[in-house]
Amino acid sequence: MITSADVVVIGSGAFGASAAYHLAKRGARVAVLERLGLASQTSPRAAGLSSQVRATPSLTRLARRAVGKLASFTDETGQPLRFTQSGALKIARNERDAEQLSREVARGAAAGVEIDFVSIAEAQRRLPILGARGIAAITWSPTDCNVEPSDLPIGYCRAAEKLGAALLPHTPATGFEIGAGGVEGVRTPQGTIATRAVVDAAGGWARLVAAGLGGALPVVPTRHQLLITEPIAGVGPEFPIARVIDANVYVRHERGGLMLGGYEPDPLQVDMAALPPAFDIAELPLDIEVLWRLARSVSEQFPIFQDPTIRVAEHRGGLPTLTMDDRYLAGPLPGVGGAWVMSGCCVGGLSVSPALGEAMAEWILDGTSSLDLTEISTARFAGREADEAALRERCRQAYAAHYRAGRETSAVS
Ligand SMILES: Cc1cc2nc3c(=O)[nH]c(=O)nc-3n(C[C@H](O)[C@H](O)[C@H](O)COP(=O)(O)OP(=O)(O)OC[C@H]3O[C@@H](n4cnc5c(N)ncnc54)[C@H](O)[C@@H]3O)c2cc1C
Repeated sequence: MITSADVVVIGSGAFGASAAYHLAKRGARVAVLERLGLASQTSPRAAGLSSQVRATPSLTRLARRAVGKLASFTDETGQPLRFTQSGALKIARNERDAEQLSREVARGAAAGVEIDFVSIAEAQRRLPILGARGIAAITWSPTDCNVEPSDLPIGYCRAAEKLGAALLPHTPATGFEIGAGGVEGVRTPQGTIATRAVVDAAGGWARLVAAGLGGALPVVPTRHQLLITEPIAGVGPEFPIARVIDANVYVRHERGGLMLGGYEPDPLQVDMAALPPAFDIAELPLDIEVLWRLARSVSEQFPIFQDPTIRVAEHRGGLPTLTMDDRYLAGPLPGVGGAWVMSGCCVGGLSVSPALGEAMAEWILDGTSSLDLTEISTARFAGREADEAALRERCRQAYAAHYRAGRETSAVS
């Protein structure tokens, strides 16, 4: 096995794979440790949605850069990625959410992202399954996109390997050598890899990995689910993504059917330390009633989900990590030299991973990144740890209000 690396990346999901690729592209000697199969955990179970108008100019720049890189992914990496620029509709069902849409249109205009209000009739022309009742306002963003989630992390892994990265599936990081100056090595069952830099991109397990490094990471793994129906006559890939703000529900086309997912008020939060070491996300208990409740909450806008003949072809879920302010968590792990974090995906990590991995590679290798990551930096929580109950409650609130008016910090997925 490889015995030394410039950077050891822990985790081969969207975050770790993108970081590994961008580090290797810059000439770093990279090793990727993955406790299970490559790119096999939460990332391939995502919905694959993207959204570019974010809460602030720097978050919007990050999301725009990511969509640009998704669009040119195959040109850049030589790997396949199913990319569909279907655009997105966002639906407000009350005046408060309509005001949120007004602010988003203004922010989009300022950032150069196409987004504007459309009439219900125009929205129905684009999305014929949309019901007209109960809608206060709708925006249309033509450049939003969706991707096949399973293509992305494995594509970055393969591209990183071609650039010389060592991919080590079924090889967990089990401990760390920490010296006076910080990280000196990563222990695995196959031996220790000497390194001065570690990236904790361990998804649901990121907090455990950070604890092993001697740091604290205020994130809570939170179950998120979606369903995909059997094919439905008239449903096609030209259908845009649709999001209903107050219901926290999204709908898009998938494989001739419809995908529905969303954010319930009381999500399952998971203590990874209580799970067996070999736990695989495939074993995560799912609850489809959560999704039917969400579907019922948008029955006026999406009556199609009340059709008794509708059949579920796939029901899947994973464990994104939530932060207290619903923003990503990236940067140096406070207090541990040479340790870096890519976590707090807030159910929006897959789509932003191309730009975040690129920026993290710059930060690690150059000491700074061309995109401003201050708003998502680990530094914002340093020394301000909440107790466990408060952390869980604030992360629950962040999840439950993901699309809601007033939560303009949301990392939209
Ligand atoms: C149903 C669903 C829908 C979603 N929809 C969207 C969406 O539309 N848009 C979007 O952008 N995002 C979406 N997401 C969120 C997205 O999936 C996550 O943001 C993203 O996958 C996070 O990637 P990751 O690399 O952090 O995690 P993961 O993919 O879980 O990767 C982490 C990896 O680290 C490995 N690991 C852990 N500990 C160790 C260790 N000690 N040693 C070695 N390896 C280790 C794990 O085995 C795992 O493979 C969705 C998620 C779900 C579940």
